[in-house]
Amino acid sequence: MSRINVVGAGLSGLSFAIKARLDGEHVTLFDKSEPSVISAGLSSNVISVNQRSAKFLKSLGVLDQLEESAKTSFQEIVVTDSDGVGRVSFSSKTIEEDYLGLIINADALRYALLEQAKSLDIRIFWQYPFTLELLKCDLFVAADGPNSAVRQALGIKTLQYPYDQSANICVVEATRPVKNTAFQWFGKEGPLALLPLSQIGKFAVVWSSAQDFSLQTVDYFENEINLRTRDRLGKLRVLTERLSFPLQQKQALKFVEDRVALIGDSAHTIHPLAGQGGNLGFADAEVLAKEISMSKIEGLELPYQKILRRYQQNRRLEAFLFGLTMEVFHRGYGSRNSGVQFVRSLAMNHVHQNDQLKQFAMSIAAGGFF
Ligand SMILES: Cc1cc2nc3c(=O)[nH]c(=O)nc-3n(C[C@H](O)[C@H](O)[C@H](O)COP(=O)(O)OP(=O)(O)OC[C@H]3O[C@@H](n4cnc5c(N)ncnc54)[C@H](O)[C@@H]3O)c2cc1C
Repeated sequence: MSRINVVGAGLSGLSFAIKARLDGEHVTLFDKSEPSVISAGLSSNVISVNQRSAKFLKSLGVLDQLEESAKTSFQEIVVTDSDGVGRVSFSSKTIEEDYLGLIINADALRYALLEQAKSLDIRIFWQYPFTLELLKCDLFVAADGPNSAVRQALGIKTLQYPYDQSANICVVEATRPVKNTAFQWFGKEGPLALLPLSQIGKFAVVWSSAQDFSLQTVDYFENEINLRTRDRLGKLRVLTERLSFPLQQKQALKFVEDRVALIGDSAHTIHPLAGQGGNLGFADAEVLAKEISMSKIEGLELPYQKILRRYQQNRRLEAFLFGLTMEVFHRGYGSRNSGVQFVRSLAMNHVHQNDQLKQFAMSIAAGGFF
């Protein structure tokens, strides 16, 4: 049994800890914050989880613990170019699956992960920020988010793209809703996503924009969002507080050091326009835990170097490719050049008419590049 210290009890750190514990490891978690509480009522803090992550969360015994009101599946995504005439829709029928993804209340998911960790006797030390002392263990896992103190202490450099955008989130209600369908509008005002909640007609909004809408009045925001969605779902009305977060894209140049692995946002933070950051973190957690358990089966003498090398080989390229793809979308759809707008509308309509291209795009969104 290995002694593993994990810093960061967010979605990535908790899911890794549970998987490693289920595989028989001795895991201890440390987090600088206090345990979070789930707020009652509607929450805009949702995460779109792809099929691979859904299977992983199920294997941890967490997905089925979530109340029905905290999760919903969607079968279609409709993507529209709001500055042009491009439109493409993806359906789970094309890939013969029951759904494309799940929209899950992120606070409820973290709570379910914490409960599962508790039931497996994983010790969690709260209000315990990272110190170099914690590196004294068989394997150390950094899951301490985008501004990772561990990454900085180890001097691991990052590749960064700064954005002049904030993610604006809230819940809205539509007068003409469409069931189990997610919507996205791309355009020079930044990508806008409407993610369906379990309560019919209600959607979580993620609008990545140069504007910080939390500084504007509700009337102003409602006017802007209704202009943008062009009556596709009828009139939209804001139901919750509007929050805003500055956006950044960051990738660690190394995901591993001697006996240390970075997972989740500490290794890569990507633009939320495709809702993939958390999914990458779950895949990191799953792959790292799998490499540890494989090493025991292989009876390796110096397992950690090999585990870490394999983990980095598996995860770094994929995170880089997702980061690059987000960058291409961000720049392509942020462009005010009419030539670029024309080409992207053509490209969208071409994908819309081509089932093979759609299947390719959906398989990446569902489970990654590899
Ligand atoms: C608006 C928005 C929408 C998004 N939508 C989606 C989506 O639909 N789908 C998706 O897959 N992803 C989405 N993401 C990305 C996703 O939310 C993140 O990738 C994911 O939550 C990262 O989890 P994490 O556990 O790696 O990091 P974090 O959630 O940042 O957790 C880090 C933990 O480490 C702790 N910590 C930090 N520093 C220290 C320290 N020095 N010592 C000890 N503990 C420390 C923190 O307290 C925290 O608990 C979205 C992101 C944004 C901003």
